[in-house]
Amino acid sequence: MIIVESFSAARALHSGLVGLVPTMGFLHEGHLSLAREARRDTDTVVMSLFVNPLQFGAGEDLSAYPRDRERDAALAESVGVDVLFAPPLDEMYPEPPATEVGVPALSESLEGVFRPGHFTGVATVVAKLFAGLRPDRAYFGRKDAQQLAVIRRLAADLSFPVFIVGCPIVREPDGLALSSRNVFLSADDREAATAISRGLMDAADAVEAGERSARALESLVASAIGDSPHIQLDYVALADSRNVLLLSDLDRPAFLAVAATVGTTRLIDNVHFDPVGDTFVADRGTRIERSSVLYREEKP
Ligand code: AMP
Repeated sequence: MIIVESFSAARALHSGLVGLVPTMGFLHEGHLSLAREARRDTDTVVMSLFVNPLQFGAGEDLSAYPRDRERDAALAESVGVDVLFAPPLDEMYPEPPATEVGVPALSESLEGVFRPGHFTGVATVVAKLFAGLRPDRAYFGRKDAQQLAVIRRLAADLSFPVFIVGCPIVREPDGLALSSRNVFLSADDREAATAISRGLMDAADAVEAGERSARALESLVASAIGDSPHIQLDYVALADSRNVLLLSDLDRPAFLAVAATVGTTRLIDNVHFDPVGDTFVADRGTRIERSSVLYREEKP
């Protein structure tokens, strides 16, 4: 694996079909699952590692965002990444960008309400990665379901010749979706956070038993979270997978999305539902066998 810091150095290492895995680093099994998928499909696997300031709002955790480039490099190499593209800020943004890429129609619901400007930051950096690295395929997690919809739409609208691959959510053995931010959970918060995926799995069971009402599915999640003193629910909503419009009934490909603040850490999770024949199948993601979460012990 070769580590490069410029777009041109990364492009010089391309051969054959190029697969791109964009990340902000502090890698976990979720990121690695995307890289493994890219390794299976393509000849040159490029992983980008860049904590993108444009997608953090005021008061969000940009400076505290966890970073460990050496560990990331070892993990990326272990799953067969060929090129680790780790640009410094002035390679990505030689000047403060005067051009923004926005997908407003898909960015205003769900996360957009709580993180204004977030998806414009994401779309802008992803458009730069597509333009600068010219991948044939790009791999994103279903964990960030709204982001995946935004990126599919931006690639289509701007005619980027890239195929977008959405990959299943990777979960801890007890169901918690892996996230670089899980490192901020205290032991008690980590325990409480399992209610989020438990609620989603209850909703998945209900869909497979025939439930189609968004309100019924949403209340299953809300009641799993209940009134835990550790969790504050931001939203739970059923949305169309393609355009992120809110649904009152499950009648097309959709995802049930949750955002909640556990302790001081904001977490998101979801389950996708895909129509198969007359019914819907839930994508519950996959679970790793052994716990990977590092959490901070609570101070006495
Ligand atoms: P991030 O580093 O948080 O920007 O995430 C980089 C990519 O990894 C995005 O496409 C995420 O959706 C994906 N990702 C993050 N967590 C998971 C997870 N638990 N399972 C699958 N994909 C994930």
